Amino acid sequence: MPEPSLKIENARYVLTLDRERRIIRDGSILVESGRINRVGRAAELAGVRADRVIDARRMLASPGFFNGHMHISYAHAVRGIFPDEMASPLLHVFNLQTAMTEEEEYHTSLLGIVELVKSGTVCFVDPGSTKFPDACLQAYQGSGVRVILGECVSDQPAPFTLPRYPAAEGVARTSSFLAKWHGRLGGRVRAWAMPFSAETCSAELLRGCKRAADEHGTGFTLHHGSGPQARQESTARHGAGPTQYLESLGVLGPNVLLAHALGIDDAEIECIARTSTAVVMCPVTAAKSGRGVPANGRMPELLARGVRVALGSDSPNNSNHLDLVRAMNMAAIQYKDARQDTRQIPAEAALEMATIAGAQALGVGDELGSIEPGKKADLVLFDTERPEWQALFNPVNNLVYSADGRSVHTVVIDGRVVVDAYRQSFVDESRLFARVQEIGEQLQSRTGISFPRSRWPVIS
Ligand SMILES: [Zn+2]
Repeated sequence: MPEPSLKIENARYVLTLDRERRIIRDGSILVESGRINRVGRAAELAGVRADRVIDARRMLASPGFFNGHMHISYAHAVRGIFPDEMASPLLHVFNLQTAMTEEEEYHTSLLGIVELVKSGTVCFVDPGSTKFPDACLQAYQGSGVRVILGECVSDQPAPFTLPRYPAAEGVARTSSFLAKWHGRLGGRVRAWAMPFSAETCSAELLRGCKRAADEHGTGFTLHHGSGPQARQESTARHGAGPTQYLESLGVLGPNVLLAHALGIDDAEIECIARTSTAVVMCPVTAAKSGRGVPANGRMPELLARGVRVALGSDSPNNSNHLDLVRAMNMAAIQYKDARQDTRQIPAEAALEMATIAGAQALGVGDELGSIEPGKKADLVLFDTERPEWQALFNPVNNLVYSADGRSVHTVVIDGRVVVDAYRQSFVDESRLFARVQEIGEQLQSRTGISFPRSRWPVIS
């Protein structure tokens, strides 16, 4: 059944993110059959009717957000258990993830999706965390969110428990995952090849996964990092730096998304740019885990070279939140501080990474990422009738520096209203929250992975 038509009327501002980056004051948007049919000044659309009309006089309309690296699955059940001083919880992370049952993963994923959509995210990349996509399909279907999924594969020893198969089997599993999942739910589910990282995968596995992605006309993502030590090790092993090594294997290219990409040098940036590879950076994770953005963050140089850069939140045990507005804020402020230069990452650049550039990095920029006629109708209405939005003169500045995802009032995905006046209707939140809390208790006692709940005495 086609979605009923929808008119967003008299929006205080519409941030179109179209080619001219037009901002329409007192604007209206008409959505028909899941697509944006018209966008313009309210007066121009005054006589236009629709099945549903949303009075947006106190709203700011923005394209929906793209989260390019977001480990859904285990983490919502055990959010915040790792103490700050634990430098790398990865060993525990993968043990917890391995212990998840199908029912547990369904509920924790559903909670992740609730958090994502209620803060304005319309599409996310889960880099291979989901073990039971068949069970989670219900969550994708009910919520209406867009998801990019894949099966995590590796074939080399790792210091943590990754799914490991002989290279040929890893490639075969990837191919059949792509064949089974790509394009499901009217295109809202996309499937990509997701080898974990170059350190945990052989050349044969990486090449095979890239070939599978190319054959299916889809994407490829992996965890990627560099830095002086990594460059030294990679040169000793492969005769090339970490990024040049991927290029030598033929696994860089327009359908490849490198995650994190901290520590890359000028030659690696050049390599990423000349192969038209995309990058997703997780600014909050980088800052929270003390990754040294002043030395290792090269977002301004990537953008200057025209590289498509998306923002990601990593998991709720890395950044610890999934709010892309806060990620935009971090991206915009951390480089100003790191470089002691307020010209770095303007608010507009941060918003682009979360919307149109993010969509382009994920290979869906032709269909999504801006409010323009012909594009799929994915958009967010922010409620500006809140203290943090006052006074309102420069809407992009207020969005990136003053607001956060809690002022998301309405979210539309594929023309369907999935968050309506702050509420979603696909799941009973209090039951879900209680179940996820229970799952967290059970998971910790089953795996023996738990930590003091507080540095301060907890009285009960
Ligand atoms: Zn990751």
